[in-house]
Amino acid sequence: MNYNQFFRDAVNRLHDERRYRVFADLERIAGRFPLATWHSPNGPRSVVMWCSNDYLGMGQHPKVVGAMVETATRVGTGAGGTRNIAGNHHPLVGLERELADLHGKEAALLFTSGYVSNQTGISTLAKLIPDCLILSDTLNHNSMIEGIRQSGCERQVFRHNDVAHLEELLIAAGSQRPKLIACESLYSMDGDIAPLSKICDLAERYGAMTYVDEVHAVGMYGPRGGGIAERDGVMHRIDVLEGTLAKAFGCLGGYITAKAEIIDAVRSYAPGFIFTTSLPPAVCAAATAAIRHLKSSNWERERHQERAARTKAVLNAAGLPVMSTSTHIVPVFVGNPERCKQACDLLLQEHGIYIQPINYPTVAKGTERLRITPSPYHDDALIDQLAEALVQVWHRLDLPLHATPLAAE
Ligand SMILES: *Cc1c(COP(=O)(O)O)cnc(C)c1O
Repeated sequence: MNYNQFFRDAVNRLHDERRYRVFADLERIAGRFPLATWHSPNGPRSVVMWCSNDYLGMGQHPKVVGAMVETATRVGTGAGGTRNIAGNHHPLVGLERELADLHGKEAALLFTSGYVSNQTGISTLAKLIPDCLILSDTLNHNSMIEGIRQSGCERQVFRHNDVAHLEELLIAAGSQRPKLIACESLYSMDGDIAPLSKICDLAERYGAMTYVDEVHAVGMYGPRGGGIAERDGVMHRIDVLEGTLAKAFGCLGGYITAKAEIIDAVRSYAPGFIFTTSLPPAVCAAATAAIRHLKSSNWERERHQERAARTKAVLNAAGLPVMSTSTHIVPVFVGNPERCKQACDLLLQEHGIYIQPINYPTVAKGTERLRITPSPYHDDALIDQLAEALVQVWHRLDLPLHATPLAAE
């Protein structure tokens, strides 16, 4: 038996489907975001990052870096064990309080990542509800799908953001059956937003519980960075809000916030919480600093939206097929995995611009795209340079440009 051959074959299948993934070796430069050094096969080169999920550049903010360094110096690096073994370290307690306050909830619970918070949070909650039916948006993130699968509960999928379809499923399930609606607030590949208020109306009318992933919205939307639910005034109507510390907060970790008894149940029953070492104190302190800063500072949020709008307008005026969105995500349509990868290779090698190709299974086949994420630190010159580079690449690969600019958003 040649076991190695199985793995070689598996990877070759990805090559055949043109979706074998390659990651660039990058080194960010704190204080100069979005600039980074690319350790290319021919040595180090300066590049501009255009696809980071450190959306607001908080990963380099002096308060955040300062809190991390100060805490590591004072209390050391690791957490020293699971919370069952080593107890709660103090920065972790402070961070959970900060998160509960951010979302106006009684309590919060931290996990190793946003992925783990969805996977173990959803599966644990749903398992504790007898005969729970989970209603899940078609475009939910893999971490939610895995959580739903692990719960062993029945699942029905509603069409993306389609509240009429969701209502049909709720009615069919009957008023007696416990139901959990699981969705995201902001879908980060298309950059569209869920109708949270209507979803809450339905949940209340048909007696369902709600679980909302705000990973791509926390820090960036709402007057204090509480996300789309805060912006839309529905935070108090959603049972469980889930978020990450790894995107707009620039650190690492995930969490859920909810009423105290829900959080206590997950804390007590979730294997993905119980059996793994907690986040290190320095990471918790840094995340707390980022959240606190963004609770009171609107500069990052306003500049972020303004930069995204400008990027869309400039790319659109250059004839590039910008997919229409109402958010900070700027998807540019390619529609072919090979071209998508080639476009990204050319951008990096010839223009010093780093954008990862977005191919299947992250998005549906035939909708491959570049996913551009402008930050508050991408200035006009960088945006103009991006537009010129994209137009050259589009010509090189013979990709279609539109002649007249579409109406600006
Ligand atoms: C990135 C992401 C996660 C996972 O968060 P991490 O903290 O990176 O593990 C969860 N949900 C969605 C929608 C995401 O895009």
